[in-house]
Amino acid sequence: MGDPRGFLNIKRKESGYRPVEERVGDYSEVEVTLPDNERMEQAARCMDCGVPFCHWGCPVSNVMPEWQDNIFRGDWQAAYDILNETNNFPEFTGRVCPAPCEASCVLAITNEPVTIRQNERSVAEKAFETGYVKPRIPAGRTGKKVAVIGSGPAGLACADMLNQYGHSVTVFEATDKVGGYLRYGIPDFKLEKKVIDRRVNILKEEGIEFRTSVNVGVDVKGSEILKEYDSVMLAIGARKPRDLSIEGRDLKGVYFAMEYLEQKNRIVSGQSFTEDELIATLNKKVVVIGGGDTGSDCVGNANRQGASCISQIEIMPEAPSHRNDDEPWPLWPRLSKKSSSHEEGCERHFQIMTKKFIGDNGVLKKILACKVEWVKDEKGSMSMKEIPGSDFEIEADVALLAMGFVHPVHEGLVKELGLGLDSRGNITVDEKFMTSVKGVFSGGDASRGASLVVWAIREGREAARGINEYLS
Ligand SMILES: Cc1cc2nc3c(=O)[nH]c(=O)nc-3n(C[C@H](O)[C@H](O)[C@H](O)COP(=O)(O)OP(=O)(O)OC[C@H]3O[C@@H](n4cnc5c(N)ncnc54)[C@H](O)[C@@H]3O)c2cc1C
Ligand code: SF4
Repeated sequence: MGDPRGFLNIKRKESGYRPVEERVGDYSEVEVTLPDNERMEQAARCMDCGVPFCHWGCPVSNVMPEWQDNIFRGDWQAAYDILNETNNFPEFTGRVCPAPCEASCVLAITNEPVTIRQNERSVAEKAFETGYVKPRIPAGRTGKKVAVIGSGPAGLACADMLNQYGHSVTVFEATDKVGGYLRYGIPDFKLEKKVIDRRVNILKEEGIEFRTSVNVGVDVKGSEILKEYDSVMLAIGARKPRDLSIEGRDLKGVYFAMEYLEQKNRIVSGQSFTEDELIATLNKKVVVIGGGDTGSDCVGNANRQGASCISQIEIMPEAPSHRNDDEPWPLWPRLSKKSSSHEEGCERHFQIMTKKFIGDNGVLKKILACKVEWVKDEKGSMSMKEIPGSDFEIEADVALLAMGFVHPVHEGLVKELGLGLDSRGNITVDEKFMTSVKGVFSGGDASRGASLVVWAIREGREAARGINEYLS
């Protein structure tokens, strides 16, 4: 530990965001970084606790005290080496991770955890800026071939590990570009796509082959892949969106959030769409249904596209602003969160249920909604009750359904291979991440259910270990 009194003398300082009026005019990342001297001071706040709960809180078990100490000492390369041992892509998590590590930092007891995520981003960026991140070509090859299907963070982490073990890895990706939801989900204002390209170029130089625009199960049979490769990793994500089957769902103007978000990311990357295809929100009244992060990303895009007003409605009550007694430290608390996109302009409403989409000539005009209350039953589980007489209408030109994802898409590959599924429809895996089909592994959202980038990286790593063991 560099400074034993750092946590007493230095206050937590957030990097912060660019000013709202500036950032809504572009799609560049909104978060800024602190100068090196301040970043080193922030790292000095780490107490190197006897029991570092942050390791436990971090899904990839990053070892914070060690790399915080190296930041404090200005040895950014040593910090990167330690970080990279547990996290293949700290430049992704350093930008988008909700940082469960910070919730379990001992300093979170007094609400001022170490700025672990932002420190992580700085370490990663420094390593790239100084040319320290170089391709690590494996010394030899095992002669074993592995197909990784899906190029989101789970597929990429798995491919990276397998390649370093010396196996020959081919990544198949259904869309035209690598990255999964990093590419065509998370907006550029949270994660610029050059950050993905930079990493993918290194993975390519290290010997990983990428085949894009190949939907396995449709363009090529899963059984053919099984014949050609010694093992297969399914990192296909949980891409079936939760729908809202109510009257008016088929009106023009009602879309899944992902239709909107994917299109916006493609536009930012230079692709164009016809007027018919375009989900335009300029001067439109936009209602986002679903109060989570995907919904918040819709808000950010709609603000950048000049929507005349944006509301985000959520059926659940607003989370508390402070930890509840039933979520004590070091657990991850469910807290009310105002994202950078919310700051840019949005009305948020909780305990609202959508009942009907109302249109005119097939085009959305209004949403009929009502207020609900949540009551605990005698078993302690919450149940929802509509408040009688609370119906109201919201004017809407565009409604975006951001209510989460149910499970991986079953049509195609999952059905063809006859994979075992759990009660929620996710792919079942054993403790080594092998599915019900021998030699076929899975991880990330596909088996875990929709989750986080950091969990996808963790499970991609674990599955790679399972595959390596299987092949050895
Ligand atoms: C809008 C949005 C915002 C998010 N924001 C955050 C955030 O801020 N922080 C965070 O931690 N998490 C966030 N998440 C969640 C995070 O992106 C996911 O948990 C993570 O990407 C899951 O990784 P994955 O590799 O399992 O799957 P995915 O990223 O979904 O990747 C799966 C890939 O498999 C491909 N594929 C599927 N089937 C086939 C097939 N048959 N053949 C070939 N390829 C196939 C898909 O095209 C896709 O590229 C967000 C998610 C969304 C949708
Ligand atoms: S990956 Fe996420 S949880 Fe782990 S140290 Fe980084 S910010 Fe924290």
